[in-house]
Amino acid sequence: MELSSVKRVAAAVNTVILLLVFGLMAFFAFIDVQFLVYFSIPTALIYIVGFFLIFKDKLDFYVWLVYCWLTLYMGITTMCLGYGYGFHLYCFSMIPVMFVTEYISYKLKRRSMKAIIVSFVIAVFYILCTGYVAYFGPVYERGKRAAAFFWIFNALIVFGFLIYYTNFLIRSVIDSEKKLIEAAHIDRLTKLYNRHYMINRLEALYSEGGTAVLAMADIDSFKHINDTYGHNAGDEVLKAVSERMKQVCSDCEISRWGGEEFLIISRKPLNSTTAMLEELRRNIELSPVRFGDTNIKVTITVGVVERTDGNGVDAWIQQADRKLYYGKNNGKNCIISEPVTV
Ligand code: GH3
Ligand code: MG
Ligand code: MG
Repeated sequence: MELSSVKRVAAAVNTVILLLVFGLMAFFAFIDVQFLVYFSIPTALIYIVGFFLIFKDKLDFYVWLVYCWLTLYMGITTMCLGYGYGFHLYCFSMIPVMFVTEYISYKLKRRSMKAIIVSFVIAVFYILCTGYVAYFGPVYERGKRAAAFFWIFNALIVFGFLIYYTNFLIRSVIDSEKKLIEAAHIDRLTKLYNRHYMINRLEALYSEGGTAVLAMADIDSFKHINDTYGHNAGDEVLKAVSERMKQVCSDCEISRWGGEEFLIISRKPLNSTTAMLEELRRNIELSPVRFGDTNIKVTITVGVVERTDGNGVDAWIQQADRKLYYGKNNGKNCIISEPVTV
């Protein structure tokens, strides 16, 4: 999160609250509660100073000053008018805001008050103020109509805020969880699964049983491509080959196993997997990869092996590897699925 966007949001929130303070001040004058009219003056000043603090980059101080004053404001208005007006409800929405403020400070690498302590103080203050009103009654008794209007207005704002805010937070958590899982499982350059993900998949698949075919594919003479056209061109080739694999290989899980090596799991029988890989090999051979003005000719060699019971995942991979290197030693640009002796 950028500091400038946090500052913009803070300034917008400050403006809204300041306008509310003026509105409430007029209302307190209207119902003739002079004390709250006077109390609104330092309140408005706090928010005017707030703009200065935001501008001067003293966000931490601004935020906690506002929170303390808001809590005091809610307490005083509740004691004066009673909880029939619903001002005390705002205390509930303060708690999640406190925790998110601590989180934002952590993200911006700034010091922050501990939300858990502040929340505890708010809870105690809330109990004292509402307890006072419950026991002694409000300091000023005013018309019930205005109270009902304020109760509904304040309750709507508090509930609306809590629903929106909680939903927003949970969506953010789900989004960042997805991104983390993706970062842990996906190779950044090719957007294929990475080796770590594939090892787990292979182990699960091996113990499940059933038809599964493993293919180890390797780009031929890739070092030469890098040396001739540069490392960026090499990266482009890796991306293009990965894209073609995704297009051609249906019912497959494709991973970047290492530098220019790919491990593919197919759920089709050996014959159809071999035919599919042959189509992939031809596709790559026949359409060179375009990099700037140059066409880079690319070929791949693939070793294919069916799952056999009893030898474990490592042996399965080794068999695919052995076939791949047989192909490399026998002219490259081919699919090896028949048993080989090396
Ligand atoms: P062979 O046909 O026998 O497979 O030969 P090769 O040149 O493809 O294989 P070799 O193992 O000799 O070279 C692989 C090269 O791949 C070496 C390494 O610098 C390069 N490489 C590995 N990862 C990347 C990458 O992410 N991007 C680029 N551009 N090159 C990479
Ligand atoms: Mg290679
Ligand atoms: Mg290799």
